[in-house]
Amino acid sequence: MGEDLDRVPFSGIIRIRDMMYAVKDPFRLDQGDVSFDAPETVKAAMRRAVDENRSHYLQTTGVPRLLELLADKLQRVNRIPIASPDEIMVTTGGIHALYLACQALLEPGDEVLIPDPTWPPAAGNILAARARPVGCPLHEGLGWRFDLDELERCITPATRAIYVNSPHNPTGGVLHRSDIDRLAAIVIERGLWLISDEAYEDVLYDGAEHVSPASLPEMHERTISIYTFSKSYAMTGLRLGYLAARDARLRERMKKALFYTCSNVTSVVQFGGIGALEGSQDCIAVFRDELRARRDLFYAGIREHAGTVLGGDPPRGAFYAFLRINPRWQAPAGNVSQSLSWTMAEHLISRGRIGCVPGGDFGPHGEGYIRFCFARNRRELSGAIASMRDLFSGAVSIPAAS
Ligand code: PLP
Repeated sequence: MGEDLDRVPFSGIIRIRDMMYAVKDPFRLDQGDVSFDAPETVKAAMRRAVDENRSHYLQTTGVPRLLELLADKLQRVNRIPIASPDEIMVTTGGIHALYLACQALLEPGDEVLIPDPTWPPAAGNILAARARPVGCPLHEGLGWRFDLDELERCITPATRAIYVNSPHNPTGGVLHRSDIDRLAAIVIERGLWLISDEAYEDVLYDGAEHVSPASLPEMHERTISIYTFSKSYAMTGLRLGYLAARDARLRERMKKALFYTCSNVTSVVQFGGIGALEGSQDCIAVFRDELRARRDLFYAGIREHAGTVLGGDPPRGAFYAFLRINPRWQAPAGNVSQSLSWTMAEHLISRGRIGCVPGGDFGPHGEGYIRFCFARNRRELSGAIASMRDLFSGAVSIPAAS
């Protein structure tokens, strides 16, 4: 890859993380990490694996018991017609599954439609495969969904695939069943591929429904479905994800990319995954209920204490508040960055100790917004709100509309 990697940007999230290290007693609402601990079922399975010396090489695509459990979950929960565990591959987190998918699917110069705004590694992984990410707007007025006529107009002869992520990071938008039906029709009609990133499949509120595109007729054949244990089981640092695909040629390529990047996913972690799937699934609902409470607490605080500066409706999925910045807000002199969202982020971090990510970092359509993660504990969320109250009360300078 060599010089090609020079063209792949680091996400601004890294710059933010470095800024946060300089802040004393920060509120870390910048990182997409949950404050929960992994369930006991995971920890006990990993302890047992250590005690039983499960510290040797494993099958490249995953330990058979884990693949079997994943096949069952994908059939039962996601309704994907998995024909055999061979259609599944265990990866080092969802991000690694996306890397494998892009390396296996894309040729130099291929275009991949991605949402704008988007989780930055989606674009980064496409660029790392020497292909071109093409942003297609998500609209706040549509609940952060695509206008699918507009999406169709973005398709060119160079388009190879569409990357979708629902529930969505950073906006929390959830695609409707009718969106997925139409996307499937587009993919089939145009002979495209779908990369479906379902990292937040379990994080839904207010009756929102998650539909796996590969569950639709003929779609498992044209979809690489990507999942992770990170969010559903609070296992972000353990790095366990998986993907499912029917196409044997693609799978053979992905298996090579998997083998040459890690040989096999860490043994003890795979046994932790078995523990997660064999054990009670109650933690998923417990996490979801608590996240809904945190979402409501955070949005109530924003409305009360920062409502003149930040606004937006609570999301129906994932755990991010993607808030519109009042364009008339002005940072105190000397704190002005290159864009509104970076100016706001730098202000919140340097004056309020509040970690956040500027919307512009997620794509041109994210500019003018700011992202907070509300999966942090309630004390941290309340602290951030209190800090915003101090920052924005009175001292905020919003000139009167002329
Ligand atoms: N996809 C999206 C949209 C994400 O936000 C994340 C993590 O934040 C992932 C995939 C992958 O997570 P991990 O690599 O921790 O499994």
